[in-house]
Amino acid sequence: MDGATVPGGCDHCNAVQKITANMHGVGIHGVGVHHDDDCSFYNSLPAGSK
Ligand SMILES: [Zn+2]
Repeated sequence: MDGATVPGGCDHCNAVQKITANMHGVGIHGVGVHHDDDCSFYNSLPAGSK
């Protein structure tokens, strides 16, 4: 599952979420939402939140 991506995570673009397993392979260590470059929501975020 490490490095897998799943669609979703944003209502404003075709974002994908990247799933990374932790070092023990149990559970989900971190999920990052990757927005489209032209996502209006992403572009409205303050610079410090990106
Ligand atoms: Zn988005």
